[in-house]
Formats: sequence, structure tokens, C-alpha cells
Amino acid sequence: MTLRALLLAPPGAGKGTQGTLLAERFDVPHLATGDLLRQHVADGTELGLEAKEYMERGDLVPDALVVSLVVACIAGPQPLEGYVLDGFPRTLEQAEAAFKWGSDRGRTFHAVISLHVSEEELVRRLLERGAAAGRVDDTEDTIRERLRIYEAKTKPLEGFYDARGILVEVDGTGEVQAVFERIVTALTPMLDD
Ligand code: AMP
Repeated sequence: MTLRALLLAPPGAGKGTQGTLLAERFDVPHLATGDLLRQHVADGTELGLEAKEYMERGDLVPDALVVSLVVACIAGPQPLEGYVLDGFPRTLEQAEAAFKWGSDRGRTFHAVISLHVSEEELVRRLLERGAAAGRVDDTEDTIRERLRIYEAKTKPLEGFYDARGILVEVDGTGEVQAVFERIVTALTPMLDD
């Protein structure tokens, strides 16, 4: 039994934390496009140089760049059977590209997990993370911009996945472990036997 899941949630909702736990539990890789992009920026690759300015102002990196980055990770000579994607797809164009790629290979998502956390709590968590981890995009103005972009571009994906019957909505507040158990309980019925 493998898992192909997407964590669909605004910045600060706990995608990274929950994505890591889920990937461990189901023994699949955790692919976070934000982490992959930050690594490219740190390494000064061509892709990193192109992505940097968008990331610093809290904007989305162009679809074509992100799609090719993800495909390079999950395709390759030995395509991955399972994965937890964190932060991709983030636009309808990316979701359509991912759906086409997955359905051509019998590998669409089993479940898309939407984590619900209030905006006030998101801003509080992100400011805390900015202070602790020094992420350049965790400043108040950039946080507001990222939340605005989430609402405009990413939230509509809930309808896209709900229409396909794979959206799982989970309360993302409270203890990390409690949120994790809620996620596992909600998605277990959606896995293949
Ligand atoms: P995250 O770590 O998921 O908050 O992502 C950090 C930043 O990376 C975002 O604000 C975007 O600039 C960029 N990014 C990550 N994933 C994507 C994506 N799927 N599409 C476009 N930009 C992305």
C-alpha cells in the first residue's frame, strides 16, 4: 500500500511538519517544492536565480519552472510510486498538468488534505518562524502577500479536487500529533487495499 497525497494549505498551516510525519508513516518521500526551490537558490543554479526574485516578494514562481522541477523529482528512470507533495500544485494550471501526468500513468493522488487554520493564527505562526528560522519571506508584508496569493490562486484547487472526490478537510489547529492523527484517520479510507 502506498500513498500519493498532496497537502493543500496556506503558508503557516503546518504543511511541512505534517508532510514530514505523513511521509515517515507511509514510507514515501516528502517533496516540498518550497524546500527544493530554496535549495536551488542557495546553490545558485540557473533555476534558483530565476526563482529567487519571485520567492523574495512572496509571489509564485512561474508554473513551467515548478512543473519541470517536480517532474524531474518524481519521474526519472524509476518513477516514484508514492509521495507526499507539499506546496505543489499551487495553481489550477499546475493541478491540470499534474492530473494529466498522473492519469497517463495511473498515478493520480489518493487524497488531497486541506488543513484549516485561521488567518490570525497563520500570521502568528509565520512571524514566529521568521524570527526563529530567518526565512526572508516570513516578514509581515510578505506574509500578507503570500496569504492573499493563496486565497486567489491556490484555494480554488479545493473545488478541483472536491469535484474528483478526493478532498479531505482537516482542522489544523492544536497539537502537532493530534492534527496528524486526524489526517491519518481521514485519509486511510481513501487508500487502495
Ligand atoms: P513554501 O515553502 O511552500 O511556503 O514556498 C515558498 C515559496 O516558494 C513560495 O512563496 C513560492 O514563491 C515558491 N513556490 C513553492 N511552491 C510553488 C509552486 N508550486 N508554484 C509556484 N511557486 C512555488
